[in-house]
Amino acid sequence: MTTTTRSAGLVVALDGPGSSGKSSVGAAVALELGYRFCDTGLLYRAATWLALERRVRAQGDRADPPGLVALVPQIALMADAQGRLSHVSVDGIDVTEEVHTPRVDDAVSAVSRVPELRAALLERQRSLAAEPGGIIMAGRDIGTVVLPDAHLKIFLDASVEERAKRRAEERGIAPDGREARSILDQLRRRDGLDSTRTVAPLRAAEDAVHIVTDGNRFEDTVAAVVAEIKRAEARRAIGAGEPAR
Ligand code: C5P
Repeated sequence: MTTTTRSAGLVVALDGPGSSGKSSVGAAVALELGYRFCDTGLLYRAATWLALERRVRAQGDRADPPGLVALVPQIALMADAQGRLSHVSVDGIDVTEEVHTPRVDDAVSAVSRVPELRAALLERQRSLAAEPGGIIMAGRDIGTVVLPDAHLKIFLDASVEERAKRRAEERGIAPDGREARSILDQLRRRDGLDSTRTVAPLRAAEDAVHIVTDGNRFEDTVAAVVAEIKRAEARRAIGAGEPAR
């Protein structure tokens, strides 16, 4: 990837755990700054949804990594009205809603651990980032594996309790009930699985800027990310002798 020769817009890696706000914050920031946006979690979610539908196993005696890899060509990221890649399709049908169900939440970390699947999705993500124009790419391993040369790496974090509260709110679930507790348990489990896998675990790149969002309003986090990107644009403009966008 030739991130150093870009003249307009930066390559920004936006990583963090589940429900840290990467997708919604990243999409809002992209709109404000005229960047492209890509939510890579959708690729793993769509692979998981398809694997469940087609009964392709990710673990156990009947694990079938080549079967999982064979699902990848059917998956495509789709642009919304503003051109942000925050929808996903399977065989041309939009499945964004289907991939955000508890069934997929439960299974996605096991599918995402399969190295062959990750390898199959890696080039897809890199070639999207290499297209012209600035991009914010959200995920778990963007700054560490997918785009290690990104101009700016941000790690968005929040306590698991705060993240569970936000997810419950998003899904219209009462904060103290059984369903809310199961969201908390499931996020804890997913954090554990995502951060202990051997290939591309969830972790902040050494050179990432950490933004902790506990107690922040959504707009505060958007503003903090916008400010980091503008600082990075200015640094780069000074370094390259070109005007900041
Ligand atoms: O970001 P989101 O919660 O939609 O991601 C769903 C799952 O996809 C994560 O829990 C993780 O297992 C996997 N994922 C990943 N690498 C990425 C993005 C998501 O392993 N870059």
